[in-house]
Amino acid sequence: SGVRSVSVLGATGSIGDSTMDLLRASPERYQVEALTANTNVAGLAKLAKEFNARFVAVADPARLSELRAALAGTDIACGAGEGAIVEAAERPADWVMAAVAGAAGLKPALAAVDRGAHVALANKECLVCAGEFFMDRAAKAGATILPADSEHNALFQALASGNRDELTKVIITASGGPFRTWAAADIEQATLAQALKHPNWSMGQKITIDSASMMNKGLEVIEASWLFALSPDEIDVVVHPQSIIHGMVEFSDRSVVAQLGSPDMRTPIAHCLGWPDRIVGRAAPLDLAKIGTLTFEAPDYARFPGLKLAYDALRAGNGATTVYNAANEIAVAAFIAQRIRFGAIARLVEETMNSWIRAGNLAPLSCADDAIAVDHNARDMAAALLPQIAA
Ligand code: NDP
Ligand code: MG
Repeated sequence: SGVRSVSVLGATGSIGDSTMDLLRASPERYQVEALTANTNVAGLAKLAKEFNARFVAVADPARLSELRAALAGTDIACGAGEGAIVEAAERPADWVMAAVAGAAGLKPALAAVDRGAHVALANKECLVCAGEFFMDRAAKAGATILPADSEHNALFQALASGNRDELTKVIITASGGPFRTWAAADIEQATLAQALKHPNWSMGQKITIDSASMMNKGLEVIEASWLFALSPDEIDVVVHPQSIIHGMVEFSDRSVVAQLGSPDMRTPIAHCLGWPDRIVGRAAPLDLAKIGTLTFEAPDYARFPGLKLAYDALRAGNGATTVYNAANEIAVAAFIAQRIRFGAIARLVEETMNSWIRAGNLAPLSCADDAIAVDHNARDMAAALLPQIAA
Protein backbone atom coordinates (compact mmCIF):
# COMPACT_ATOMS: atom_id res chain seq x y z
CA SER A 1 0.00 0.00 0.00
CA GLY A 2 1.02 3.61 -0.54
CA VAL A 3 2.14 6.40 1.74
CA ARG A 4 0.28 6.61 5.03
CA SER A 5 -0.46 10.00 6.58
CA VAL A 6 0.09 10.14 10.33
CA SER A 7 -0.29 12.66 13.14
CA VAL A 8 1.35 12.49 16.56
CA LEU A 9 -0.35 14.25 19.48
CA GLY A 10 2.27 14.66 22.21
CA ALA A 11 5.14 14.31 19.71
CA THR A 12 7.75 15.77 22.10
CA GLY A 13 7.08 13.26 24.91
CA SER A 14 8.43 9.82 25.64
CA ILE A 15 5.81 7.98 23.53
CA GLY A 16 6.13 10.69 20.88
CA ASP A 17 9.88 10.10 20.76
CA SER A 18 9.43 6.33 20.29
CA THR A 19 6.83 6.97 17.58
CA MET A 20 9.06 9.43 15.70
CA ASP A 21 11.91 6.90 15.90
CA LEU A 22 9.76 4.35 14.04
CA LEU A 23 8.60 6.94 11.48
CA ARG A 24 12.20 8.05 10.94
CA ALA A 25 13.19 4.48 10.07
CA SER A 26 10.80 4.35 7.05
CA PRO A 27 10.50 7.90 5.67
CA GLU A 28 9.18 6.59 2.34
CA ARG A 29 6.12 5.05 4.01
CA TYR A 30 4.82 7.94 6.11
CA GLN A 31 3.76 11.53 5.50
CA VAL A 32 3.51 13.51 8.73
CA GLU A 33 0.31 15.56 8.80
CA ALA A 34 0.30 17.16 12.29
CA LEU A 35 2.50 17.20 15.40
CA THR A 36 1.71 18.72 18.80
CA ALA A 37 3.37 19.64 22.11
CA ASN A 38 2.43 21.47 25.29
CA THR A 39 5.22 24.04 25.73
CA ASN A 40 8.29 22.58 24.02
CA VAL A 41 8.41 24.87 20.97
CA ALA A 42 12.04 24.12 20.09
CA GLY A 43 11.56 20.34 20.14
CA LEU A 44 8.33 20.59 18.15
CA ALA A 45 9.80 22.88 15.48
CA LYS A 46 12.81 20.60 15.08
CA LEU A 47 10.57 17.57 14.47
CA ALA A 48 8.29 19.56 12.17
CA LYS A 49 11.21 20.51 9.93
CA GLU A 50 12.78 17.05 9.99
CA PHE A 51 9.51 15.34 9.00
CA ASN A 52 8.17 18.19 6.86
CA ALA A 53 4.91 18.26 8.83
CA ARG A 54 1.96 20.20 7.40
CA PHE A 55 0.67 21.59 10.71
CA VAL A 56 2.00 21.90 14.27
CA ALA A 57 0.37 23.13 17.46
CA VAL A 58 1.37 23.93 21.04
CA ALA A 59 -1.21 23.83 23.82
CA ASP A 60 0.23 26.88 25.57
CA PRO A 61 -1.53 29.86 23.92
CA ALA A 62 1.26 32.24 24.98
CA ARG A 63 3.78 30.53 22.70
CA LEU A 64 2.28 31.22 19.27
CA SER A 65 4.76 33.95 18.28
CA GLU A 66 7.67 31.84 19.50
CA LEU A 67 6.41 28.92 17.40
CA ARG A 68 5.94 31.16 14.34
CA ALA A 69 9.48 32.44 14.72
CA ALA A 70 10.85 28.91 15.04
CA LEU A 71 9.09 27.92 11.79
CA ALA A 72 10.05 31.07 9.84
CA GLY A 73 11.10 30.32 6.26
CA THR A 74 9.09 27.05 6.11
CA ASP A 75 5.55 26.56 4.80
CA ILE A 76 4.48 24.66 7.94
CA ALA A 77 1.19 26.01 9.30
CA CYS A 78 0.85 26.39 13.07
CA GLY A 79 -1.49 27.20 15.93
CA ALA A 80 -1.53 27.52 19.72
CA GLY A 81 -4.03 26.77 22.48
CA GLU A 82 -6.28 23.84 23.31
CA GLY A 83 -8.34 24.43 20.14
CA ALA A 84 -5.21 24.15 17.99
CA ILE A 85 -4.44 20.71 19.47
CA VAL A 86 -7.97 19.62 18.54
CA GLU A 87 -7.45 21.11 15.07
CA ALA A 88 -4.28 19.00 14.71
CA ALA A 89 -6.33 15.89 15.54
CA GLU A 90 -9.00 16.90 13.01
CA ARG A 91 -6.51 17.15 10.14
CA PRO A 92 -6.92 14.28 7.68
CA ALA A 93 -4.35 11.73 8.87
CA ASP A 94 -5.20 8.00 8.49
CA TRP A 95 -3.36 7.17 11.70
CA VAL A 96 -3.13 9.26 14.87
CA MET A 97 -0.97 8.59 17.90
CA ALA A 98 -2.81 9.92 20.99
CA ALA A 99 0.06 10.47 23.43
CA VAL A 100 -0.77 13.68 25.28
CA ALA A 101 -0.27 13.11 29.03
CA GLY A 102 -3.39 13.21 31.21
CA ALA A 103 -7.08 13.94 30.72
CA ALA A 104 -6.04 17.00 28.68
CA GLY A 105 -5.68 14.49 25.84
CA LEU A 106 -9.37 13.56 25.81
CA LYS A 107 -10.78 16.23 23.48
CA PRO A 108 -8.08 15.86 20.82
CA ALA A 109 -8.30 12.04 20.93
CA LEU A 110 -12.09 12.28 20.52
CA ALA A 111 -11.60 14.58 17.54
CA ALA A 112 -9.50 11.90 15.82
CA VAL A 113 -12.01 9.20 16.80
CA ASP A 114 -14.99 11.19 15.48
CA ARG A 115 -13.57 11.32 11.97
CA GLY A 116 -13.11 7.54 11.92
CA ALA A 117 -9.30 7.47 11.98
CA HIS A 118 -7.03 4.67 13.17
CA VAL A 119 -6.22 5.91 16.66
CA ALA A 120 -3.21 4.44 18.45
CA LEU A 121 -4.12 5.14 22.05
CA ALA A 122 -1.30 5.62 24.56
CA ASN A 123 -3.21 8.20 26.62
CA LYS A 124 -4.88 5.91 29.17
CA GLU A 125 -6.18 8.80 31.30
CA CYS A 126 -8.66 9.74 28.57
CA LEU A 127 -10.14 6.23 28.67
CA VAL A 128 -10.26 6.18 32.46
CA CYS A 129 -11.95 9.59 32.41
CA ALA A 130 -14.55 8.87 29.72
CA GLY A 131 -14.02 5.32 28.45
CA GLU A 132 -17.57 4.29 27.70
CA PHE A 133 -18.25 7.40 25.59
CA PHE A 134 -14.90 7.15 23.93
CA MET A 135 -15.61 3.58 22.80
CA ASP A 136 -19.19 4.48 21.75
CA ARG A 137 -18.00 7.34 19.61
CA ALA A 138 -15.33 5.14 18.05
CA ALA A 139 -17.96 2.54 17.15
CA LYS A 140 -20.33 5.18 15.71
CA ALA A 141 -17.63 6.83 13.61
CA GLY A 142 -16.08 3.54 12.50
CA ALA A 143 -12.76 4.47 14.11
CA THR A 144 -10.26 1.74 14.92
CA ILE A 145 -8.76 1.96 18.39
CA LEU A 146 -5.32 0.38 18.50
CA PRO A 147 -4.12 0.01 22.12
CA ALA A 148 -0.56 1.33 22.40
CA ASP A 149 -0.15 0.78 26.14
CA SER A 150 2.08 -2.31 26.27
CA GLU A 151 -0.25 -4.47 28.40
CA HIS A 152 -3.31 -3.63 26.32
CA ASN A 153 -1.45 -4.08 23.10
CA ALA A 154 -0.48 -7.54 24.38
CA LEU A 155 -4.13 -8.32 25.17
CA PHE A 156 -5.18 -7.03 21.75
CA GLN A 157 -2.70 -9.39 20.09
CA ALA A 158 -3.55 -12.37 22.34
CA LEU A 159 -7.31 -11.89 21.90
CA ALA A 160 -6.91 -12.59 18.19
CA SER A 161 -6.37 -16.28 18.95
CA GLY A 162 -9.91 -16.91 20.26
CA ASN A 163 -13.44 -15.54 20.26
CA ARG A 164 -14.62 -12.98 22.81
CA ASP A 165 -17.18 -15.42 24.30
CA GLU A 166 -14.43 -17.99 24.86
CA LEU A 167 -12.41 -15.59 27.02
CA THR A 168 -12.47 -16.33 30.76
CA LYS A 169 -10.12 -13.58 31.94
CA VAL A 170 -7.25 -11.35 31.05
CA ILE A 171 -4.07 -10.88 33.07
CA ILE A 172 -1.95 -7.75 32.87
CA THR A 173 1.56 -7.71 34.29
CA ALA A 174 3.08 -5.02 36.50
CA SER A 175 6.80 -4.49 37.05
CA GLY A 176 6.03 -3.52 40.65
CA GLY A 177 8.03 -0.31 40.16
CA PRO A 178 10.98 0.94 42.23
CA PHE A 179 9.23 0.27 45.58
CA ARG A 180 8.19 -3.34 44.89
CA THR A 181 10.24 -4.70 47.82
CA TRP A 182 10.06 -1.64 50.08
CA ALA A 183 8.35 -1.57 53.49
CA ALA A 184 5.19 0.55 53.74
CA ALA A 185 6.88 3.08 56.05
CA ASP A 186 9.67 3.65 53.51
CA ILE A 187 7.22 3.97 50.60
CA GLU A 188 5.35 6.62 52.63
CA GLN A 189 8.53 8.78 52.79
CA ALA A 190 9.89 8.07 49.28
CA THR A 191 11.41 11.09 47.54
CA LEU A 192 10.69 12.38 44.03
CA ALA A 193 14.11 11.18 42.82
CA GLN A 194 13.41 7.68 44.17
CA ALA A 195 9.96 7.58 42.56
CA LEU A 196 11.44 8.64 39.22
CA LYS A 197 13.90 5.71 39.09
CA HIS A 198 11.91 3.05 37.25
CA PRO A 199 13.70 -0.31 37.07
CA ASN A 200 12.70 -1.30 33.49
CA TRP A 201 10.98 1.42 31.49
CA SER A 202 12.02 4.92 30.47
CA MET A 203 8.85 7.04 30.41
CA GLY A 204 7.42 10.52 31.06
CA GLN A 205 7.40 11.87 34.62
CA LYS A 206 3.70 11.40 35.42
CA ILE A 207 3.46 7.75 34.36
CA THR A 208 6.76 6.96 36.10
CA ILE A 209 5.32 8.20 39.41
CA ASP A 210 2.09 6.30 38.67
CA SER A 211 4.19 3.16 38.22
CA ALA A 212 5.87 3.66 41.58
CA SER A 213 2.48 3.99 43.34
CA MET A 214 0.96 1.23 41.13
CA MET A 215 -1.76 3.77 40.31
CA ASN A 216 -0.60 3.11 36.75
CA LYS A 217 -1.76 -0.49 37.05
CA GLY A 218 -5.04 0.72 38.50
CA LEU A 219 -5.51 3.06 35.54
CA GLU A 220 -4.68 0.12 33.27
CA VAL A 221 -7.27 -2.17 34.88
CA ILE A 222 -9.89 0.50 34.14
CA GLU A 223 -8.44 1.05 30.66
CA ALA A 224 -8.72 -2.70 29.93
CA SER A 225 -12.30 -2.75 31.13
CA TRP A 226 -13.36 -0.04 28.62
CA LEU A 227 -11.19 -1.21 25.73
CA PHE A 228 -12.32 -4.82 25.82
CA ALA A 229 -15.70 -4.56 27.61
CA LEU A 230 -14.52 -6.59 30.62
CA SER A 231 -15.97 -6.69 34.13
CA PRO A 232 -13.56 -6.09 37.05
CA ASP A 233 -13.69 -9.82 37.88
CA GLU A 234 -12.34 -10.63 34.43
CA ILE A 235 -9.17 -8.55 34.91
CA ASP A 236 -6.24 -9.86 36.99
CA VAL A 237 -2.93 -8.21 37.76
CA VAL A 238 0.26 -10.14 38.41
CA VAL A 239 3.57 -8.58 39.40
CA HIS A 240 6.31 -9.64 36.98
CA PRO A 241 9.51 -7.70 37.76
CA GLN A 242 11.28 -8.49 34.45
CA SER A 243 8.51 -6.88 32.29
CA ILE A 244 8.94 -9.44 29.49
CA ILE A 245 5.40 -10.81 29.41
CA HIS A 246 3.09 -7.81 29.01
CA GLY A 247 -0.37 -9.33 28.99
CA MET A 248 -2.16 -12.68 28.76
CA VAL A 249 -5.61 -13.92 27.82
CA GLU A 250 -7.07 -17.04 29.37
CA PHE A 251 -9.64 -18.92 27.28
CA SER A 252 -12.28 -21.42 28.36
CA ASP A 253 -10.08 -24.42 27.49
CA ARG A 254 -7.48 -23.03 30.01
CA SER A 255 -5.07 -22.03 27.29
CA VAL A 256 -3.32 -18.83 28.30
CA VAL A 257 -1.98 -16.82 25.36
CA ALA A 258 0.75 -14.30 26.18
CA GLN A 259 2.63 -11.61 24.28
CA LEU A 260 6.33 -11.15 25.10
CA GLY A 261 8.89 -8.52 24.19
CA SER A 262 11.75 -6.43 25.52
CA PRO A 263 10.44 -3.58 27.70
CA ASP A 264 10.59 -1.01 24.90
CA MET A 265 7.49 0.95 23.85
CA ARG A 266 8.64 0.89 20.23
CA THR A 267 7.33 -2.69 20.00
CA PRO A 268 3.65 -2.02 20.82
CA ILE A 269 3.81 1.24 18.85
CA ALA A 270 5.22 -0.65 15.84
CA HIS A 271 2.30 -3.08 16.12
CA CYS A 272 -0.14 -0.15 16.06
CA LEU A 273 1.68 1.49 13.12
CA GLY A 274 1.74 -1.67 11.06
CA TRP A 275 -1.69 -3.04 11.96
CA PRO A 276 -3.14 -5.18 10.40
CA ASP A 277 0.30 -5.96 8.97
CA ARG A 278 3.65 -6.20 10.72
CA ILE A 279 6.46 -3.72 10.15
CA VAL A 280 10.13 -3.99 11.12
CA GLY A 281 10.59 -3.21 14.82
CA ARG A 282 13.28 -1.10 16.47
CA ALA A 283 13.57 -2.67 19.94
CA ALA A 284 16.36 -5.07 20.87
CA PRO A 285 15.38 -8.66 20.03
CA LEU A 286 14.20 -10.66 23.03
CA ASP A 287 16.92 -13.02 24.30
CA LEU A 288 15.25 -15.33 26.81
CA ALA A 289 18.37 -17.42 27.46
CA LYS A 290 20.16 -14.24 28.52
CA ILE A 291 17.24 -13.16 30.73
CA GLY A 292 17.14 -16.61 32.30
CA THR A 293 14.33 -16.22 34.82
CA LEU A 294 10.81 -14.86 34.69
CA THR A 295 9.17 -14.47 38.10
CA PHE A 296 5.66 -13.62 39.28
CA GLU A 297 4.13 -12.35 42.54
CA ALA A 298 0.67 -11.35 43.73
CA PRO A 299 0.21 -7.57 44.02
CA ASP A 300 0.15 -6.22 47.59
CA TYR A 301 -2.91 -4.01 48.09
CA ALA A 302 -1.75 -3.01 51.59
CA ARG A 303 1.45 -1.34 50.36
CA PHE A 304 -0.12 -0.24 47.05
CA PRO A 305 -3.69 0.78 47.92
CA GLY A 306 -4.09 2.71 44.65
CA LEU A 307 -4.49 -0.56 42.76
CA LYS A 308 -7.36 -1.73 44.92
CA LEU A 309 -9.05 1.69 44.63
CA ALA A 310 -9.21 1.20 40.86
CA TYR A 311 -11.30 -1.94 41.30
CA ASP A 312 -13.51 -0.07 43.81
CA ALA A 313 -13.99 2.75 41.29
CA LEU A 314 -14.86 0.32 38.49
CA ARG A 315 -17.43 -1.44 40.67
CA ALA A 316 -18.95 1.88 41.80
CA GLY A 317 -19.29 3.08 38.18
CA ASN A 318 -21.26 6.31 37.61
CA GLY A 319 -18.20 8.47 37.08
CA ALA A 320 -16.13 7.00 39.93
CA THR A 321 -13.27 6.11 37.58
CA THR A 322 -13.30 9.72 36.31
CA VAL A 323 -12.92 10.86 39.94
CA TYR A 324 -10.13 8.31 40.53
CA ASN A 325 -8.15 9.66 37.59
CA ALA A 326 -8.78 13.35 38.35
CA ALA A 327 -7.73 12.99 42.01
CA ASN A 328 -4.61 11.08 40.98
CA GLU A 329 -3.58 13.82 38.51
CA ILE A 330 -3.92 16.43 41.29
CA ALA A 331 -2.05 14.17 43.74
CA VAL A 332 0.86 13.50 41.36
CA ALA A 333 1.21 17.21 40.57
CA ALA A 334 1.23 17.97 44.32
CA PHE A 335 3.87 15.28 44.93
CA ILE A 336 6.06 16.67 42.12
CA ALA A 337 5.65 20.14 43.67
CA GLN A 338 6.71 18.52 47.00
CA ARG A 339 3.46 19.56 48.68
CA ILE A 340 2.57 15.99 49.78
CA ARG A 341 4.43 12.84 50.74
CA PHE A 342 4.49 9.90 48.36
CA GLY A 343 2.14 7.87 50.58
CA ALA A 344 -0.39 10.70 50.46
CA ILE A 345 -1.03 10.18 46.74
CA ALA A 346 -3.25 7.14 47.33
CA ARG A 347 -4.77 8.76 50.42
CA LEU A 348 -5.85 11.81 48.43
CA VAL A 349 -7.41 9.58 45.76
CA GLU A 350 -9.25 7.53 48.38
CA GLU A 351 -10.41 10.59 50.31
CA THR A 352 -11.62 12.32 47.13
CA MET A 353 -13.55 9.22 46.06
CA ASN A 354 -15.11 8.87 49.53
CA SER A 355 -16.04 12.57 49.75
CA TRP A 356 -17.49 12.44 46.25
CA ILE A 357 -19.70 9.50 47.16
CA ARG A 358 -20.69 10.98 50.55
CA ALA A 359 -21.73 14.21 48.80
CA GLY A 360 -24.13 12.14 46.69
CA ASN A 361 -22.30 12.99 43.47
CA LEU A 362 -22.23 9.49 41.96
CA ALA A 363 -24.68 9.57 39.07
CA PRO A 364 -24.95 8.03 35.63
CA LEU A 365 -23.05 9.99 32.96
CA SER A 366 -24.55 10.26 29.52
CA CYS A 367 -21.80 11.75 27.34
CA ALA A 368 -18.15 12.71 27.24
CA ASP A 369 -19.03 16.29 28.30
CA ASP A 370 -20.55 14.87 31.50
CA ALA A 371 -17.28 13.08 32.16
CA ILE A 372 -15.32 16.28 31.49
CA ALA A 373 -17.55 18.11 34.02
CA VAL A 374 -16.97 15.37 36.62
CA ASP A 375 -13.24 15.59 35.90
CA HIS A 376 -13.26 19.36 36.61
CA ASN A 377 -15.37 19.06 39.77
CA ALA A 378 -13.33 16.15 41.13
CA ARG A 379 -10.09 18.12 40.53
CA ASP A 380 -11.56 21.01 42.57
CA MET A 381 -12.58 18.61 45.34
CA ALA A 382 -9.14 16.95 45.40
CA ALA A 383 -7.42 20.35 45.47
CA ALA A 384 -9.64 21.39 48.39
CA LEU A 385 -8.75 18.22 50.29
CA LEU A 386 -5.00 18.62 49.67
CA PRO A 387 -4.14 20.75 52.75
CA GLN A 388 -5.67 18.22 55.17
CA ILE A 389 -3.95 15.31 53.39
CA ALA A 390 -0.64 17.20 53.41
CA ALA A 391 -0.86 17.91 57.13
P1 NDP B 1 5.43 12.78 28.44
O1 NDP B 1 5.23 13.63 29.62
O2 NDP B 1 6.80 12.28 28.13
O3 NDP B 1 4.89 13.53 27.12
C1 NDP B 1 3.63 14.11 27.09
C2 NDP B 1 3.39 14.81 25.76
O4 NDP B 1 2.14 15.49 25.82
C3 NDP B 1 4.43 15.87 25.42
O5 NDP B 1 4.49 16.01 24.03
C4 NDP B 1 3.84 17.12 26.07
O6 NDP B 1 4.34 18.30 25.51
C5 NDP B 1 2.37 16.92 25.75
N1 NDP B 1 1.45 17.53 26.71
C6 NDP B 1 1.55 17.51 28.07
N2 NDP B 1 0.51 18.16 28.62
C7 NDP B 1 -0.25 18.62 27.60
C8 NDP B 1 -1.45 19.39 27.54
N3 NDP B 1 -2.07 19.84 28.64
N4 NDP B 1 -1.98 19.65 26.32
C9 NDP B 1 -1.36 19.22 25.19
N5 NDP B 1 -0.22 18.50 25.20
C10 NDP B 1 0.33 18.20 26.39
O7 NDP B 1 4.42 11.56 28.60
P2 NDP B 1 4.54 10.08 28.03
O8 NDP B 1 4.95 10.10 26.62
O9 NDP B 1 5.29 9.25 28.99
O10 NDP B 1 3.02 9.60 28.16
C11 NDP B 1 2.00 10.06 27.26
C12 NDP B 1 0.76 9.22 27.49
O11 NDP B 1 1.05 7.87 27.15
C13 NDP B 1 0.29 9.20 28.95
O12 NDP B 1 -1.10 9.15 28.98
C14 NDP B 1 0.88 7.91 29.49
O13 NDP B 1 0.11 7.37 30.53
C15 NDP B 1 0.79 7.02 28.26
N6 NDP B 1 1.75 5.92 28.25
C16 NDP B 1 3.09 6.17 28.28
C17 NDP B 1 4.01 5.14 28.29
C18 NDP B 1 5.48 5.41 28.25
O14 NDP B 1 6.27 4.47 28.12
N7 NDP B 1 5.94 6.64 28.34
C19 NDP B 1 3.57 3.73 28.31
C20 NDP B 1 2.14 3.58 28.21
C21 NDP B 1 1.28 4.63 28.20
P3 NDP B 1 5.69 19.04 26.10
O15 NDP B 1 6.84 18.19 25.63
O16 NDP B 1 5.68 20.38 25.46
O17 NDP B 1 5.54 19.07 27.59
MG1 MG C 1 1.37 0.04 30.50
